[in-house]
Amino acid sequence: MRCPFCGHDDTQVKDSRPHEDGAAIRRRRICASCGQRFTTIERVQLRDLHVIKTDGRRVAFERDKLARSVRIALRKRPVDDERIERIVNGLVRKLEASGETDILSGDIGKLVMDTLREVDIVAYIRFASVHWDFRETKDFAAILESIPGTAEARAAAAGGRQDEAP
Ligand SMILES: [Zn+2]
Repeated sequence: MRCPFCGHDDTQVKDSRPHEDGAAIRRRRICASCGQRFTTIERVQLRDLHVIKTDGRRVAFERDKLARSVRIALRKRPVDDERIERIVNGLVRKLEASGETDILSGDIGKLVMDTLREVDIVAYIRFASVHWDFRETKDFAAILESIPGTAEARAAAAGGRQDEAP
């Protein structure tokens, strides 16, 4: 692993430990040349996934992008980082296990929505309102009505969205 500070290509691993429930390994490294310390995270990548966007473009699947949108949906909700990482790992594993290497972005959205619905209803509504075109989904109102405590959740989701405005 090359040092990100000086470019020296001999860095030593000081320690390794399981990360994110064992789905990854976290290594602390030190550069033999400049002495800077840094951390790397190693993950198993089962296959190269691609996303087919709604406009037909095919782009490489980015775990970080998925993680970011899940984190935004769960911002200020009672779900800690460790659990968010486990949720994202679970999503990626499901995608990898689907047997497809090209996945429709809408299918990823649905998978995330199904997962968030189980985790936190406010996060579910936030994610759904950002990533789903509800103008075409007449039954979204029906979905909302079927969820207990929806009025509060909707108000919280609207508040969350205001926070995220750039
Ligand atoms: Zn260095």
